[in-house]
Amino acid sequence: MTDERSEATQTERTVNVALVIERTGAEGPGERYALWVQGCPMRCAGCCNPEMLVFRERERRTARDLADEAIAQRSHGVEGVSLLGGEPFSQAEALAEVAERVRAAGLSVMVYTGFTIEELRAQSDPHVDALLAQTDLLVDGRYERERHSTARRWIGSDNQRLHFLTDRYREDDPRFAAPNTVEIRMKNGRITINGWPVHGAKTRLGG
Ligand code: SF4
Repeated sequence: MTDERSEATQTERTVNVALVIERTGAEGPGERYALWVQGCPMRCAGCCNPEMLVFRERERRTARDLADEAIAQRSHGVEGVSLLGGEPFSQAEALAEVAERVRAAGLSVMVYTGFTIEELRAQSDPHVDALLAQTDLLVDGRYERERHSTARRWIGSDNQRLHFLTDRYREDDPRFAAPNTVEIRMKNGRITINGWPVHGAKTRLGG
């Protein structure tokens, strides 16, 4: 009974989703399921996703549904999930569930946050800690336009850091030194551009 009640509670966790790309090679190592969330408390000048900053309702999806969708992409070569935004740690509780589910299925988790890891740990928030505990790779720190850089893959400005929080990946993995890539998709009259490092324009929607 306790387990059933716990399971029911988990299914109620939802993520306010700005964008999903089910398979991309431009948002972390290998092919990845990329999930952008809506809402960010930061206002970095030159933010590449300005339409994702306001905390407003976009598309509500359960953590279970998102995790199942990502796990289904394993058969297409997807090795992990990337969480972007917006600010993933503003929805830490539901995203920790997504991350836990996909990692249990063998996928890795990469998170891009505007907070530094020190700021996240200082919050002493159990949901933030839970998402950190399910994160293999963390890119942290505000985007600083005046320190914009393309020198490191997947990292937008020199102040940002890539943390290897588990042994899932190694710094000498040659994929981390490969050039950045940008992907352009057109589907149902909508154009999506994602990847790095289009200065000031990482993920855009149009149509
Ligand atoms: S933390 Fe990221 S999403 Fe938020 S304003 Fe800065 S660059 Fe944009």
